Amino acid sequence: MNTTSNNHFWKKDKEHFIHPYTDYATFKDEGSQVISKADGNYIYDSNGHKMLDGIAGLWCANIGHGRKDMADAIHQQITKMQYYNPFGHTTNEPAAELASKLAEISPGNLNHVFYTCGGSTANDIALRLVHYYNNLRGKPNKKKIISRNYGYHGSTYFAANLTGIHGTKDCFDQIAQDLVSHISAADMYRRPAGAENLTEQEYCNFLAAELENRIQQLGADNVAAFIAEPIMGAGGVLVAPEGYHRRCWEICKKHDVLFIADEVVTAFGRLGEWVASKEIFDYQPDILIVAKGINSGYVPLGAAILSSDIYDVISKPQSDGGVLSLGFTYSGHATACAAALKNFEIIEEENILENVRNLGPVLQDGAKELLTNPIVGDVRGKGFMLGIDLVSNKDTKEPLNVASRVFTKCMERGLVIRPIVNLIVISPPLTLTENDVQALLQIVNESIEEVYQEVSAEGLV
Ligand code: PMP
Repeated sequence: MNTTSNNHFWKKDKEHFIHPYTDYATFKDEGSQVISKADGNYIYDSNGHKMLDGIAGLWCANIGHGRKDMADAIHQQITKMQYYNPFGHTTNEPAAELASKLAEISPGNLNHVFYTCGGSTANDIALRLVHYYNNLRGKPNKKKIISRNYGYHGSTYFAANLTGIHGTKDCFDQIAQDLVSHISAADMYRRPAGAENLTEQEYCNFLAAELENRIQQLGADNVAAFIAEPIMGAGGVLVAPEGYHRRCWEICKKHDVLFIADEVVTAFGRLGEWVASKEIFDYQPDILIVAKGINSGYVPLGAAILSSDIYDVISKPQSDGGVLSLGFTYSGHATACAAALKNFEIIEEENILENVRNLGPVLQDGAKELLTNPIVGDVRGKGFMLGIDLVSNKDTKEPLNVASRVFTKCMERGLVIRPIVNLIVISPPLTLTENDVQALLQIVNESIEEVYQEVSAEGLV
């Protein structure tokens, strides 16, 4: 890692910034790499080292970094009115305009937008509203949420409890243990016992049956919602078997269980469509959770987009005159919403979804060629979302936890990837050119090969 010890930002950061998701054993010695500049598809560290941003900041800088048109739109809004509170019957122009745009982009009757500050808060708010909805419907016991192992839903207390990734739970309390129930991830590569030799269709049925059994075990009258990412992101870029989401959605409908699609990563073009759930996987969520790509990370923003059916219940005047008592100071932040409107305009004008539809297969097919490397066990993904699974043995699929070594070698060659234990995650800006895609694949290939040479010399494979 490039740590310049005489860099005063590096020192101040090391001494005072509590970084998220950071290994403090190494952080206390090494500190952080300071990223000083970002421009288009590239970032630069404080030594001027230029790197292709293979992770779009963190699955978010969809239209690329440092755009003047975004800066102008944000500047214009700030000088006109940077913020005013959204409580009660007060609104602002960008928030109203964006809510209408989101309703237009979102499938079916997803017409009502609750703004938040990011993805975790959108999930938390969605669940509070789901509980509120069931209270108002006279179903006060219908409160449990079914989530999935390896699902990632955020870092606020409830969102973290929904999350099914082990490291995120170690030494933290699970305050919602009675409310959240996890089922298997839809993992095609490492399957649960009993499902190893099933065909894709049989495996889909197997997983769907697990959902239905769980609803029945908990009692449909106690289950409020099922939450799932269309493609699991941080949990391993897991692509479900064909038809899985549609089957789960049908089961949810049958049992009056709401389907929450967490599209914090997948919405707004990462898979080549505005909204993946309906347009790619053919199901109609009751609540759509979005953040990140909503304004490409230029200003923090998230939203829970609710169906008209839910809205009709929660917006019904209460006999006791109660108000919908929840919300954030920054719900519908004018500057964040103005950035989102400009972001959508850019996506449309520059045919960015089409770029992903054209280059997604180039990225995915090119990455499949990595499978010839003895430590690459699986390559999976869709569009501009890619996971490369490193193994010490292709037969046993034993994870080989050297993604951080690949990360370092990619960085030296001018590419940022995201290492998660044995997984290399790639989620670049949607503005990558074909040359960028080829450069990225070449660097990943060379870096994995170098790590393979190292680990075989060390006797790890
Ligand atoms: N849901 C998903 C699917 C995510 O990937 C993330 C963040 N990576 C979140 C929720 C949480 O979003 P945030 O970090 O903006 O709170």
